[in-house]
Amino acid sequence: MSEPPLRVAVVGAGPAGLYTADALTFDEEPAVEVDLLERLPVPFGLLRYGVAPDHLNIKAAGNTLQGVLEREPVELFCHVGVGTDVTVAELRERYDAVVYAVGASVDRTLGIPGEQLPGSSSATQFVNWYNGHPEQVVREVLDATTVAVIGIGNVALDVARLLLKDPDDLLHTDIPQPAIEVLRASAVTDVHIVGRRGPEHAKFTPKELKELGELPGVDVVVDPTEIPADPEDAKPPTKRNLAVLREWAARRSTGAPRRLHLHFGATPLEVLGEAHVTGLRLSTGDLPCQLVLRSVGYRSLPLPDVPFDDETGTIPSEGSRVVRDGRAEPGEYVVGWVRRGATGILGTNRSDAMDAVASLHEDLPALLARRTRAPEGIEGLLAARGVEHVSLQGWAAIVEREHAHGAEHGRSRVKIADLADLLEAAGVNP
Ligand code: NAP
Repeated sequence: MSEPPLRVAVVGAGPAGLYTADALTFDEEPAVEVDLLERLPVPFGLLRYGVAPDHLNIKAAGNTLQGVLEREPVELFCHVGVGTDVTVAELRERYDAVVYAVGASVDRTLGIPGEQLPGSSSATQFVNWYNGHPEQVVREVLDATTVAVIGIGNVALDVARLLLKDPDDLLHTDIPQPAIEVLRASAVTDVHIVGRRGPEHAKFTPKELKELGELPGVDVVVDPTEIPADPEDAKPPTKRNLAVLREWAARRSTGAPRRLHLHFGATPLEVLGEAHVTGLRLSTGDLPCQLVLRSVGYRSLPLPDVPFDDETGTIPSEGSRVVRDGRAEPGEYVVGWVRRGATGILGTNRSDAMDAVASLHEDLPALLARRTRAPEGIEGLLAARGVEHVSLQGWAAIVEREHAHGAEHGRSRVKIADLADLLEAAGVNP
């Protein structure tokens, strides 16, 4: 009699988890069944809640990944917390292998005075707001005229673009309707992106940087003395960034109603203000502003009962195999930001997933040899605990509701942001 298929739990249904499910089930042999477990009530992780709504070309990857969710050997369990509804030990007992793909959900802080003042928050919070993340609690009110965004990576560019763009140019996206209304009422005229190092060290990708110089109604202000000549060892993306910045530095003001300013070599020292932010103290001087958004990267959170390296903020691994008690054994793998830190583009997760699945295939004989019973998954366990999950059908119902919601506003699809509304659409009790 042939062995039952290999049964794998993938924890996290963001890009890393979905690419892993893809790589595991792409070929019919070896036969693998995948249960995708996701804490949020919906799949797609940062593809839904990180990628900016107007980056439709990046979001299009969701169409392929939706196809993966619909594959027969893939089962979706959203709204299931690993560590709360089910433990890692229970997963390890019930599956041949567990893959951790939990991403990096929290923002890093600066550790400077005034960072906690009202009017100072993380870019993550702001991104979560405009992307309709169900766990965001702040209802943004954009009454600031001047905003400082700290950090020179792509998230800073997203945040600046969303703050400066004409909200009517977002109506073809799925941005939640309340976010459109707030952006329409926004008082913001000036956004300052502040880098502690020179532009040759910026983490921007050239395409995303260039896009900011093409926004109608926005002047870009760059001090030409802050843009160095190409360093000898500069890689092509750095050269392209510097070329874009040089072109901007040569531009004259057109008197546009909104402005984007870029500053380099300016270390943030203190967020100024008493009851509310009034400015940002930089090593180069004070910048008056009423909103400070730090965009200095993401960090992963530890999962209960899974090894975690506090220093790097990742699950320790050798290749993709998790190192537990000093050894990398077959059966536990890690992919995505929780393996390598919050770097890389969407496609990096694809190669990560392929690596992990190659290791898992190598380990196949060991995984099958240690089986004492057929793997059983978690459906029975969840039912016994009264934990209702959002299945693929529930997710389809949410998508349908979002299209209906869009039609109400003369738009194609509008995201549902509220947790209770998502669960209600999926037919799941909160
Ligand atoms: P990031 O690329 O790591 O950039 C973080 C920035 O914060 C860096 O400029 C860093 O400067 C700065 N920083 C860190 N600590 C700081 C401090 N204490 N004071 C001042 N500045 C500080 O992070 P991210 O922008 O959050 O992006 C995360 C990942 O998502 C990246 O791989 C990014 O490319 C990707 N992403 C892609 C897109 C897209 O459209 N393609 C959109 C969003 C995000 P130093 O270099 O000096 O440390």
